[in-house]
This record gives sequence, structure tokens and C-alpha cells, in this order.
Amino acid sequence: MLKASAVCKSFGAVEVLRAISLEVAAGEVACLIGPSGSGKSTFLRCINHLEKIDGGQMWVDGDRVGYRLVGNKLHELKEREIALRRASIGMVFQQFNLFPHRTALENVTEGPIIVKGVRRQQAVEEGRALLERVGLGNKMHNYPSQLSGGQQQRVAIARALAMKPELMLFDEPTSALDPELVGEVLDVMKDLAESGMTMVVVTHEMGFAREVADTVHFLSEGVLVESGAPSKVLSDPDHARTQSFLAKVL
Ligand code: ATP
Ligand code: MG
Repeated sequence: MLKASAVCKSFGAVEVLRAISLEVAAGEVACLIGPSGSGKSTFLRCINHLEKIDGGQMWVDGDRVGYRLVGNKLHELKEREIALRRASIGMVFQQFNLFPHRTALENVTEGPIIVKGVRRQQAVEEGRALLERVGLGNKMHNYPSQLSGGQQQRVAIARALAMKPELMLFDEPTSALDPELVGEVLDVMKDLAESGMTMVVVTHEMGFAREVADTVHFLSEGVLVESGAPSKVLSDPDHARTQSFLAKVL
């Protein structure tokens, strides 16, 4: 579903991603962990082309990110095509970024109606079902300001799912939440993983990574230091850098 091959990205003279190679199969959950500034968010942003990579290649569901194959030639995508591809990748950030003047349900139905041209009635039916699924059946008509942080983040997840993504990216979705609200969001993500969604999750929640991830990837200074099963990487890592990072966060 996702393949990165020697992906490089620099900002000016700063090399933020140094030849990152990894694969995430359909239905798998990959967790990215690593210190602040190691390039985790940048890597996620490259997947949906919010950042353009400057070396290596990346594929989502067989499509080369940023390009379209015509005959046997690669053509760079235009903005409109990039936006279309992006619509098939759900992204959930630390900050929920809900539309403040729209209810929970309106936040969830807006994308399908505006971007995908889904009929309002169908979008509302699907939106209700999604809000039920994330445990917010009784909050559909609340505005974001009337919801807790954990509830807002669950709306943000429902909003991403409303676009029927083939891949979901999470960038520290629980970092901005009060500790007692973290669990309800992780539970929704766990359900999603169990339903077979392919997910790439940047997280500091090692318990979640241990329980839900198929593979954990440790990044440090733009280098993918080690990857493996959570039981291996989190409990018995090969590299000193992984060990010292885990010693700080666990
Ligand atoms: P955190 O855990 O703090 O979120 P991160 O692993 O997500 O960190 P990134 O946000 O990917 O790290 O940043 C990696 C490096 O790239 C940092 O040194 C950051 O300052 C730099 N960087 C990120 N975005 C830009 C940008 N648009 N312009 C210049 N430098 C950037
Ligand atoms: Mg980040």
C-alpha cells in the first residue's frame, strides 16, 4: 500500500530525511517513533505530497507519489490531480482543525459533498454512521467549541474516514489532549486498525505502538535507524540510539 525507497528531503542545507526506505502492506499499522526534529512529520507530509521529496521514490497503492504514468513515461501531477490523490489519504493532526462554525455532522459531511460530489442525504447518512462509530452519536449537532478535545479529535477521525481513504496518516493525534482523554481516541484508532485500515501513526504512545502496530520504525536525525515488530524494537532494540530514546520515553 505504501512504499518508500531511499526518500530524501532537505530544507535548505538541512537534510531532514536521509534515504528512508520502508513498506507498509495493505491492512497493516506502522508506527513511527523518534525524537523531536527527527523528521517524522516531514515523512508523513511527503506521503500525501504536502512536501515534495527531492530524492528517492514513493508509491501509494501502486501510484508513484507526485507522478502519473502515461504510456511508459512519468508526468508530474498538476495541483488538481495532487488534490484528487490527496483525497484518498486521510490525515489526522495533533491540532484537530475542525471548521469552528460547523457542527460535528457538518464537519464530517462537508468533504464528501464538496470534494466528491456525494448527494447531501447520502453524506448525512454516512456521516451519522461514522459519528456513531467513533462514539459521538449524541453529539452530532454540537459545534467544536461544545466538544472536549478528545471528542473533537474523534470528529476529525470521522471526517477523514468520510472520504473513504485507502490509507490513514496520524501525526501525534493525542499529543494535544489532556491525559484522561487520550484513551478514547486511541480506542477509536485501535478499532480502525482492527477493521483492516492501513495506517501510519506518528506517536509517543508506546503502549499503543506495542499493542496495535505491526511494525515500529525508529527515526533519528532523518535516518531510519531500525524497524521491526514492536516486541523487538520496543523491548530489545539493536541500536544504542533506539535504546537511549526509549529510556527517556518509557
Ligand atoms: P516533532 O516530534 O517535534 O513533531 P518531527 O520528527 O515531526 O518532530 P519534523 O517536523 O519532520 O520533525 O522536522 C524535522 C526537521 O525539519 C526539523 O529540524 C525542522 O526544523 C525541519 N523542518 C520541518 N519543516 C520545515 C520547513 N517547512 N522549513 C524548514 N525546516 C523545516
Ligand atoms: Mg512532528
